[in-house]
Amino acid sequence: MPKSIFRIINFITVGLLLSACGSPTAGEVAGKPEVITTVGMIADVAQNVAGRCATVVPLMGPGTDPHTYRASARDSRTLGSTDLILYSGYALEGEFGELLGRIGEGRPTLAVAEAAIPRAEIIATDSKYGVDPHVWMDVASWGRIADVTARSLSELVPNCAARMRRNAAAYRRQLGALDGWVRESIASIPEEQRILVTAHDAFGYYARAYGLEVAGIQGVSTASEAAISDIRSTVDTVVARRVPAIFVESSVNGRTIQAVQQAAADRGVETRVGGQLYSDAMGEAGTKDGTYIGMIVHNTRAITQALGGTAPPLPTGLRAWAERWGVTS
Ligand SMILES: [Zn+2]
Repeated sequence: MPKSIFRIINFITVGLLLSACGSPTAGEVAGKPEVITTVGMIADVAQNVAGRCATVVPLMGPGTDPHTYRASARDSRTLGSTDLILYSGYALEGEFGELLGRIGEGRPTLAVAEAAIPRAEIIATDSKYGVDPHVWMDVASWGRIADVTARSLSELVPNCAARMRRNAAAYRRQLGALDGWVRESIASIPEEQRILVTAHDAFGYYARAYGLEVAGIQGVSTASEAAISDIRSTVDTVVARRVPAIFVESSVNGRTIQAVQQAAADRGVETRVGGQLYSDAMGEAGTKDGTYIGMIVHNTRAITQALGGTAPPLPTGLRAWAERWGVTS
């Protein structure tokens, strides 16, 4: 069966399953409400805000690419019985996001990035949807989803509203400290080396916020293959700028990055792979890299070190996070 037909059938099936599950009794579990999110970055913020007031479960685990995500039959049962669905929006979740945007009446859904971050601050692209969805890469911007999440959760558990407002404020203070630390780290890289080459364009907001240039081989979505011309123009940049390191991503096949490295070597420029970055998914659950703060810390340290800078010690505002995960510096 051609892939496109299979996708359409899958899409319709999920839609039917979702509407079938929208009965009034579904999801009426005793106790804490359950919140389903798409990417882990939303789940982590929501869990920090909710504390013990709600259970938060991400659909998309480590290494999962949200741009091409297809809901399984199991997912649609989960979505049909949950109390609240949080997704990013701004086209991050591709067709699945369009589906979530339409199921409104059965379950409350909220596109957190669209609710928290005004369109004027979104980077325009020439991609299918016209927007760059990777807003979590700007830590100060992403912090704003804590407040909209707290408001949305408060409608489910009104007696927790004040506590969740305080949780959101405390979490945003941590992200404020993180934001300053990232800025300081990137500023330590020699100016001519502040260029970030990755497999796909996930770091536009990071670059804008912290002062880097970006050169992703693919555009803002991974839905289509990288073209030979994209690889060639990235090689030109690497050779012309003598870029010391390029990066692979945990949720994207590293093939194209290896092709760039090889082609640059053929033209006499050695660039090394500066490590794996978390772009569209966090690390393993239950590890420091499986938290939003940890993902940003990991990326920033890898980028800073590979491009010739020195990241300063973590600020005191992140002490609680560092202690929780046994991070010493
Ligand atoms: Zn992406």
